[in-house]
Amino acid sequence: MSRRRQIYEGKAKILYEGPEPGTLIQYFKDDATAFNAQKKGTISGKGVLNNRISEHIFTLLANIGVPTHFIKRLNMREQLIRQVEIIPLEVIVRNVAAGGLATRLGLEEGLQLPRTLIEYTLKDDALGDPMVSEEHIACFGWASQEEMHDIADMAIRVNDFMCGMFAAIGIRLVDFKLEFGRIWDGDFARVILADEISPDNCRLWDMTTNEKLDKDRFRRDLGGEVEAYQEVARRLGLMPEGVDNDVLDLDSHRKKRGK
Ligand code: 5GP
Repeated sequence: MSRRRQIYEGKAKILYEGPEPGTLIQYFKDDATAFNAQKKGTISGKGVLNNRISEHIFTLLANIGVPTHFIKRLNMREQLIRQVEIIPLEVIVRNVAAGGLATRLGLEEGLQLPRTLIEYTLKDDALGDPMVSEEHIACFGWASQEEMHDIADMAIRVNDFMCGMFAAIGIRLVDFKLEFGRIWDGDFARVILADEISPDNCRLWDMTTNEKLDKDRFRRDLGGEVEAYQEVARRLGLMPEGVDNDVLDLDSHRKKRGK
């Protein structure tokens, strides 16, 4: 069976050559990693759920005018995306103290921040994605001042939209990570949202119980990872009531047929 050319394999996704120039196919794996890949595992069905959740959120963001790389979902695990030149930064948006911020500054997890905080890390696994300032970004030319302005503006718009979207379904958006890429038009580059938005790169807490509905379940050995991701998909209206496993069964059915 002929297979498309693989362009890149990351920790949770694979990128294949797309059908048209300037497009790629983004394949969502079930692999999970944490602590800079020191912890590795598989969350069966995660890729299917993240593909669907990310499609949903990127589509809603496009509707409010945030440009994204998403074109369309192709099947259970794949989506067609625009090829971008990835800006080597992870953009972390925080509303509530948790994870790396809580540890670094000795803050109590769950503390509501007085204002939304944006942090930047350099996308470099070998260095453990070190935190960098806008001074570093300008000094080393990872993004221009204008691009950083657009990135911060989009990050805030994404945060405002997602805080409301998740609050409406009883979920607190604690923090999340975004990635951006450039699309070139002659000498002019435009920055658009890339990668994915899913429980893999967001902290999502149930508003009533504070139960974690995200990858921290894997990072902290809490168990119930796929059920938590399913709960997010269910509350977003992406899984019909009472048939929660259909989405996963369909996927295993495809695998059995060797597709
Ligand atoms: P922290 O810096 O607290 O570990 O992460 C802040 C937020 O960004 C969390 O929602 C976390 O899921 C996300 N995040 C930060 N770095 C990464 C990363 O390398 N991969 C993924 N999937 N998410 C990340």
